[in-house]
Amino acid sequence: MSQQKQSRLKVYNTLTRHLDDFEPIHPGRVNMFVCGPTVYDVSHIGHGKSYVAYDIIARYLRKKGYSVFFVLNITDIDDKIINRAKESKEDPLKLSERYAQAFYKDMKDLHVNSINLYAKASEYIPEIINQIKGLVDKGIGYKIQGGVYYDISKFPEYGKLSRQNLEQLTVHRVDPDPEKRNPGDFVLWKHQKPGEIAWDSPWGKGRPGWHIEDTAITLTHFGPTYDLHGGGTELIFPHHEAEIAQAEGLTGKKPLAKYWVHTGLLSIKGQEMHKSLGNFVPIQEAIQKVGVEALRVLYASTHYRSPLDYTEDTLVQAASLARRFRRAYDQVQIAVGLKSEGKDQPSTLKRQVDEARTEFFTAMDDDFNTPRALAAYIRIVGIAEEQGRLLSAESAVMLLETMKELSSILGLLETDSVPRREFLELVNMLTSLRNELRAKREYALSDRIREQMQKAGVIVEDEAK
Ligand SMILES: [Zn+2]
Repeated sequence: MSQQKQSRLKVYNTLTRHLDDFEPIHPGRVNMFVCGPTVYDVSHIGHGKSYVAYDIIARYLRKKGYSVFFVLNITDIDDKIINRAKESKEDPLKLSERYAQAFYKDMKDLHVNSINLYAKASEYIPEIINQIKGLVDKGIGYKIQGGVYYDISKFPEYGKLSRQNLEQLTVHRVDPDPEKRNPGDFVLWKHQKPGEIAWDSPWGKGRPGWHIEDTAITLTHFGPTYDLHGGGTELIFPHHEAEIAQAEGLTGKKPLAKYWVHTGLLSIKGQEMHKSLGNFVPIQEAIQKVGVEALRVLYASTHYRSPLDYTEDTLVQAASLARRFRRAYDQVQIAVGLKSEGKDQPSTLKRQVDEARTEFFTAMDDDFNTPRALAAYIRIVGIAEEQGRLLSAESAVMLLETMKELSSILGLLETDSVPRREFLELVNMLTSLRNELRAKREYALSDRIREQMQKAGVIVEDEAK
């Protein structure tokens, strides 16, 4: 642990446009919120990129010793959901519940296991209404025919996250409505249209705007300020800007979130992914095709802030790297099981592995630089491959522990195909059987056993006959 404590974590903060030292508001504790999906359809590999990135960030923060409370919201009531439900003549909340369940399965299958709480907007209606009431009482929120709106002229810092001035901000005309005080004012509460799902409120029946969900959820669980807010870069404006205006305008406490962290988008052969373009790849389809390990290697091979272009080539490369990791790991596990005396020099090996391990942590401390961390991990895999059967049990244990430690941060090697104890015993038995055969010069039979072992992924190197 001492090694990790020495270097300091730096995080690129969209709010400051700077690589900031990471110091949570309360020492040792990190409250983290990430914008989740609007559940009206299945999630695609672009969503996967973002959620795996935050999963690695949360895993790494925990590895650094922080107690992390990670909340991800689920937008389960929204125009897109209502429109989709109309098409399929379904209840909108039933439709969104179905896709929420599919999303939880996607996250489970992607090994995104660091989220503490999925918060559904529809379960926070009283908190949302309370927040809007507070804004109306302060004269920041106002009611017109269409609903309750936020008066952006009442919050002088509006635009500080996306670095836009009021003039630039008013160019974005959201919800054109002549009754609005400013063209850039955004909706807090939408009045019910005929036949639409609605909740009672002091302003009549209606439903929440999109931005207010997040601040109602974070105020409930974290209070007025918290440590880290994540989401895709496309959410900086207006969504995250609006969140800041709502929360800071209401509570007067700032910053709403100390670190604003944004992920780059995924494209397919340079194009945006869209159902209409026929290039939409659902997470489940990708997992079935290449497996979760390959997908996570693919995601980790690009820095979270960078865009990732998804092509057959990059996928094939990631899949072959994932297989290589698995083979090396299994081989080291077998070496541990064989309890071989080996011919390596444990102290030299340990130094090499420690260097690579330190590089891994240095890379992660540098704004979660997973491509560099992955390169350090590949160095360790290379050491394991090079040693092969020469590996002593002592070195094998050291390698295995390091590989387990680092892969648990990237979320790799978490599938079930780890060799079972019975398999290791079988390998042990076959190895001693071969030694006996070779002592009796029964090479044909011992070679046949070796071939079969190699087919099962166990590499056997013999000394000269
Ligand atoms: Zn959000």
